[in-house]
Amino acid sequence: MIHVLEKEVADKIAAGEVIERPLSIVKELVENSIDAGARSITVEIKKGGKNYIRVTDDGCGIKSDEVEIAFLRHATSKISRAKDLESIETLGFRGEALASIAAVSRTEIITKTAEEKAGTRLVIEGSSIAEREATGCPGGTTIVVRDLFYNTPARRKFMKSDAGESSAVIEFVSQISLAYPHLRIRMISNGNMLFSTPGKGDRYKNILTVFSRELGDGLIPVQAEEGNLRLEGYISNPGESRATRKQQIFFVNGRVVDSKVIQKGISQAYADKLFEGRFPIAFLFLAIRPDSLDVNIHPNKREIRFNDEDFVTEFIRKSLREALLSKESIPEVKEKM
Ligand code: ADP
Ligand code: MG
Repeated sequence: MIHVLEKEVADKIAAGEVIERPLSIVKELVENSIDAGARSITVEIKKGGKNYIRVTDDGCGIKSDEVEIAFLRHATSKISRAKDLESIETLGFRGEALASIAAVSRTEIITKTAEEKAGTRLVIEGSSIAEREATGCPGGTTIVVRDLFYNTPARRKFMKSDAGESSAVIEFVSQISLAYPHLRIRMISNGNMLFSTPGKGDRYKNILTVFSRELGDGLIPVQAEEGNLRLEGYISNPGESRATRKQQIFFVNGRVVDSKVIQKGISQAYADKLFEGRFPIAFLFLAIRPDSLDVNIHPNKREIRFNDEDFVTEFIRKSLREALLSKESIPEVKEKM
């Protein structure tokens, strides 16, 4: 059930959601789709998403009599009591995203639960309802966000070029595709399908699907375990280095993170193999006991702190080193039909 949180619970939730650019909207909508149990998610943007963003999922949908509630501030189905804040298992819980998005755009939602015969279509402009009707549609939810910041021109100016905004969105959707290999995720920009992951849980296939254009030779698999750390991933042959770290993507316990500690381990592993200013490609998935880690550093949750940083750096260095020495590069996987 979607309900508005009591004030004393709402007050305990840190800092409000800020919608500052298309990326923020795509992130919130995709996280909602994942929380809704979707198996398939399609993200479409036009011109960087400034005038058009659409996210479609096949998740649980919203019941007709709860659609308006979902757009109220602090309305959520994910938590009820202050105590729930201690054990959050969903990506969202603040109940602010839909309200914040609707306040700064023309938002349309089409949604249907599995139990209902007809779905609901609602158009909200700057927080007031412009249209509502019953509609035939498949189970799941589609949200279209048009004319971002049409009513707050000052914020419109802070957005980057269309190309800048689209690359931020595409980067996010690429990363989330790797974090959730069991979901089928499609990315469409200006009418072109950029990628569509198979959703079969195969990370390597997902990496090739999402990044193949930019990956050269086969990647080298990494697999290692020590103490409370477990590492899986793929790294490049030294011959395939890049001029930036953009293709070093790290997941810690399923979350995309920025980590100097991991970067350092990678650099040390390749120290005698690459020139200064060249960086290997690395997709690393690290699992660590949650109590060895603090994720509560920054509201965007991309920053983390390991309790024993040197141990992690050394573990990464050693594991990558071993993989490099074994040099067992895997050949390009051909789609099996
Ligand atoms: P939160 O995700 O923090 O709960 P949101 O404002 O993002 O808050 O969403 C409000 C509520 O609307 C959610 O708790 C959920 O019940 C419902 N909702 C939002 N998006 C979807 C979706 N794609 N599918 C099903 N329900 C959704
Ligand atoms: Mg949400």
